[in-house]
This record gives sequence, structure tokens and C-alpha cells, in this order.
Amino acid sequence: MEIKTFTCKKHGDFKARAIVCLGMEISPTCPLCQKELDDAEAREIAEREEYDKNGRISVWAERANIPKLYRRREQMIPNGNQVEALNYAFDRNLIIVGSVGTGKTMVASHLGMKAIEQHKTVRYLYASDIATRVKDTWGSKVISEREVIDDLIACDLLILDEIGRCEYNEWIFKVLDGRYMEQRPTIFTGNIDVKELPKILGDAIASRLRTNVKVITFGETDQRKARVA
Ligand SMILES: [Zn+2]
Repeated sequence: MEIKTFTCKKHGDFKARAIVCLGMEISPTCPLCQKELDDAEAREIAEREEYDKNGRISVWAERANIPKLYRRREQMIPNGNQVEALNYAFDRNLIIVGSVGTGKTMVASHLGMKAIEQHKTVRYLYASDIATRVKDTWGSKVISEREVIDDLIACDLLILDEIGRCEYNEWIFKVLDGRYMEQRPTIFTGNIDVKELPKILGDAIASRLRTNVKVITFGETDQRKARVA
């Protein structure tokens, strides 16, 4: 077949093989026009994938109960020990200690979002809400106490906020015992001294935690509270 010169109204002359169909010569598509079409299609696919990904992430963030205020990770400018906490790789338990307003919940939420982006299942709740959630199932035909506990054991990452406001109970033991057996990490936050952990989580859980935990203190130069006794 013959190579001929054609003219694109937009891009000018180009050389291509002439296409003959039923005895008629058809102008081939200009390669630059074709590239523009391909690029537009690739862009549309990428946009759709991004949209699907964001949709999936927001569904999972909702399911995980991550505070809406802290779901957008790019809004945060971390400082000090927050940077270290954000580098946490879900490889062991993490306790974030600090007084009110030091960003514990924000960092814990961002870690939850990071886990979701890595396709992990996450559950976020106040430690005291474990008991509330269990009690809510009493008399329910829809969900059982066991299912609530199992869900908190089975998730890849559990975030228990404000452990200082939680009183020890059998359900927190069951959840943390189950997670320990399955070797799944939990993030705890609280305005506490880590020496109080046995009182909050029970002696058995607190002593297991000691073997596989990172403690990070926010907003204090005094690291005293971070020392695991
Ligand atoms: Zn063209």
C-alpha cells in the first residue's frame, strides 16, 4: 500500500498508509488526534478509578466510625512526636499518651485512614463504648453480644480512644485477649500515665501489652509518663 501525505485541520500534514474501502479512499486518523483521544480516555479512566477509590475509602471510614473531622489526612501538619506516631506501621500496639488538645485523636484517626487506604479493616471507638455497644445488643434480635466482640477482635486495626475514661470490664478483656491471640494491633489514646494501664485494662492485658507496644507522648517534654513500669 502506498504511503501518502494527508492533512489534519488541527495538526497539519502527516504521512500514513492510504486506506481504500469499496474502491474509495478514506483519510486515516491523524496520529496526533489519535493520541489526544487516547490521552483523554486514559485521563477519564484514572479519574473514575480515583472516584471509586475515594468512594470506597469514605464507605470504609464510615464503617470504621473514624471521626469525620479527621478523615482528610492532607489537612494535617504534624509536629514533634506526631510525626513519629504517623510513621507507625501497624506492626505492634501503640499507646498515644498526652493531655487534652495535643492531637491524639487526630493522629489516631489519620492512622485509621492510612490503614483503610492499605485495605485494612478498622474500628474506631471510645474505649468506654465497648461496654455500651455490648449492652445495646441485650434483647436485640439483630445482633448479639458475641458478634460485637468478634467484630472488634477480627478487624485489622482497632483504635480505642480515651482509655482513661474507661473502667475495666470483661468485654474489654475479651476484645484485647482475642486480639492478642490473633496478633492484631490496637492503638490506644489517653490522657493517662501508662502506670495506670493495669487498672484500666486489667493486669493480664497490661502485662501482655508491655511485651509488644510502642508508647508515644504528645505535647510534653517530660517523658516520665511514657515509661512502661
Ligand atoms: Zn490531528
